[in-house]
Amino acid sequence: MKRFIPSHNKEKHKMNKAKRKAIIAGNWKMNKTPSETTAFVKELAPVVKDAECEVVICVPFVDLQNAVEAAKGTNIHVGAENLHWKESGAYTGEISAAMLCDLGVEYVVIGHSERRQYFAETDETVNLRTLKALEKGLTPIVCVGETLEERETGKTEEVLKRQITVGLKGVEDLTKLVIAYEPVWAIGTGKTATPAMAQEVHAAIRKILADTFGAEVAEKMQILYGGSMKPENADALLAEKDIDGGLIGGAALKADSFVALIESASKAL
Ligand code: PEP
Repeated sequence: MKRFIPSHNKEKHKMNKAKRKAIIAGNWKMNKTPSETTAFVKELAPVVKDAECEVVICVPFVDLQNAVEAAKGTNIHVGAENLHWKESGAYTGEISAAMLCDLGVEYVVIGHSERRQYFAETDETVNLRTLKALEKGLTPIVCVGETLEERETGKTEEVLKRQITVGLKGVEDLTKLVIAYEPVWAIGTGKTATPAMAQEVHAAIRKILADTFGAEVAEKMQILYGGSMKPENADALLAEKDIDGGLIGGAALKADSFVALIESASKAL
């Protein structure tokens, strides 16, 4: 595989993206076994060692240990795809924040639309999970986004406002978490929001954050785009002023396409 080439376009970085570091985070969903995880990280690590953005892979619970082991001494960070908000106890099948921290996990996806759709995730449980993750020092990647019906009935901003204000209630330092804007109609469907559409919503999210929590913190927060991001559309999406990286499903499962996205993010810095 072709080696990652660092960008030299620092001036653009200063002008465009203020001081926000770009993040390219893969969300593997229910894909790859532990041994496939080890092989993937070993293939990826040497190629992205000079990446100028943060490189994160969020993997199924059973893959975490292999991912952390294989990523040791590299610039690849490992995340989980969910966690429970209770400290410990009689919650069969659940995983606590302390368990993730003990493994060396650093990030956790919270409130993904698939969890909202299939596993009864609500804004309230997103809030509980987010607070627990932060308490334990994990970086939550909190997902928000409207369905097609909500978009078509003009409810996008109202939905995002509710997801953000309820989901982030009581968070003391918002810069310790990352937001992922994932329009539900664009996830895994091949339909991407155009860069202009995505930028418009990212700017609206930053305004909601500014109105709710203050302009200074809103300016510092990283807002990732998710929804069929791939090498062919990443340059244009990541060039937008308020898009600070991507949360990526399908294109994160193959090292080649994941590396291409990391290159795009570094170019856009
Ligand atoms: C996701 O799962 O968060 C996602 C954005 O998936 P995809 O890139 O496949 O649309």
